[in-house]
Amino acid sequence: MAVPKRKVSKARRNSRRANWKLTAPNLSTCTKCGELVMSHRACKKCGTYKSKVVLEVK
Ligand SMILES: [Zn+2]
Repeated sequence: MAVPKRKVSKARRNSRRANWKLTAPNLSTCTKCGELVMSHRACKKCGTYKSKVVLEVK
């Protein structure tokens, strides 16, 4: 089994973990209201998922 040659320093490990949020999440648009929504989630604005109302929006 391959084994790392050196211990990863705290600075290197932390700088690797500091970068994961830099890219924006992939968003699609709601088919009903055109709002940006995360995929596989109901739309926050109009409460629909796959063009059916699943949530009540206040
Ligand atoms: Zn919507």
